[in-house]
Amino acid sequence: MRSDPNCIFCKIIEKKIPSKIVYEDESVAAFEDANPQAPVHLLIVPKKHFPDIHSMNDADRELIGHLFLTAKKIADDKGLDGKGYRLVINNGAGAGQTVFHLHLHILSGRRFIWPPG
Ligand code: 5GP
Ligand code: ZN
Repeated sequence: MRSDPNCIFCKIIEKKIPSKIVYEDESVAAFEDANPQAPVHLLIVPKKHFPDIHSMNDADRELIGHLFLTAKKIADDKGLDGKGYRLVINNGAGAGQTVFHLHLHILSGRRFIWPPG
């Protein structure tokens, strides 16, 4: 499915609801999390709708790589590399996923503990 009319992140990508988009290209977008858990909290999403990692397959290798390299680019642009940052994917409700459009969290600007909650 390219886009899900009931998906909040598809609506953000299509600019049907407002968000603070910090980066976009033909296949991914990155925007500020509405309920930030750190001074920097961004979400990177594929523009195509995938509910979770298990909806992706070999044909999506390049896109998966692009998501991570976009995280690196944003971290470079925002000077996060020296500070450290956390990349998180909550995959499945049991792991805390609440929006079922695959997304990579970038969190930075505070100390993080391990194991995560
Ligand atoms: P998850 O819990 O699925 O890993 O992460 C979903 C994230 O999406 C949460 O951090 C939540 O604050 C964020 N979020 C939910 N709805 C919206 C929205 O309408 N706009 C933005 N910018 N973020 C949202
Ligand atoms: Zn979606």
